[in-house]
Amino acid sequence: MGSVEFQRVTKRFENGHEALHEVSAAFAEGSFAFIEGHSGAGKSTFLRLLLGADAPTRGNILVNGVNIAGLRARRLPRYRQHIGVVFQEHHLLGHRTAFENVALPLRVAGMRERDIGRRVRPVLEKVGLLDKERFLPAQLSTGEQQRVGIARAVVTRPKLLLADEPTGNLDPALAANVMRLFLDFNSIGTTVIVASHDHALIDAMAKRVIELRQGRLIRDSDPPLRPPGAERTASTRTEAAF
Ligand code: ADP
Repeated sequence: MGSVEFQRVTKRFENGHEALHEVSAAFAEGSFAFIEGHSGAGKSTFLRLLLGADAPTRGNILVNGVNIAGLRARRLPRYRQHIGVVFQEHHLLGHRTAFENVALPLRVAGMRERDIGRRVRPVLEKVGLLDKERFLPAQLSTGEQQRVGIARAVVTRPKLLLADEPTGNLDPALAANVMRLFLDFNSIGTTVIVASHDHALIDAMAKRVIELRQGRLIRDSDPPLRPPGAERTASTRTEAAF
């Protein structure tokens, strides 16, 4: 579930604006990459398409070899269960404790009550919040709220972790912590794709960088996984895998 390939993906909105233009990039399972670019470059659009929140106008998006652009609406929730998403605005439920916020995706997936605690607490420990599991979001600092959001994104053990400006609100030390967490999850096989315009942070990480400018991919610091032209053969599988 962790391999991703964009094949000449274009996204044109109804007003005619092209947020992405013929973007091609492949991400091997277990890889780590940044999507870099100024505000408006197309980073969020890239992640939203990958999440199935929006459909490309042209091109294919293969996840594990399956073109998600062809997934029907009823298949999308199941597909998204395999993806962890971290936003800058973490959208925590204000009247639920840290524990309950992290437990939510497990409840949605129908996990039994006694298994939920066993899954949630190690993740809270990993993000350093075990002692604050009963706190409401308003009782937590911004960095702590962000870590609850990350815990919630990874508690389902997704094979793919997407983050949109995850360090935007954080000071450099907290941002580095968040990156360390992502590296930890990456080291156990999760594919991680992080959209960011934080130059210093990206440089410090020394990972693959894909740079977008006005919807075009202008730099990919990684060599292509396959020779040009080979991608056309991979787009024909059905949606049965989800
Ligand atoms: P980034 O995340 O890099 O800041 P976005 O992907 O959010 O960039 O946006 C890329 C471009 O697409 C921007 O110019 C934005 O204004 C435009 N855009 C985003 N969503 C829509 C939409 N629903 N309709 C029209 N234009 C949009």
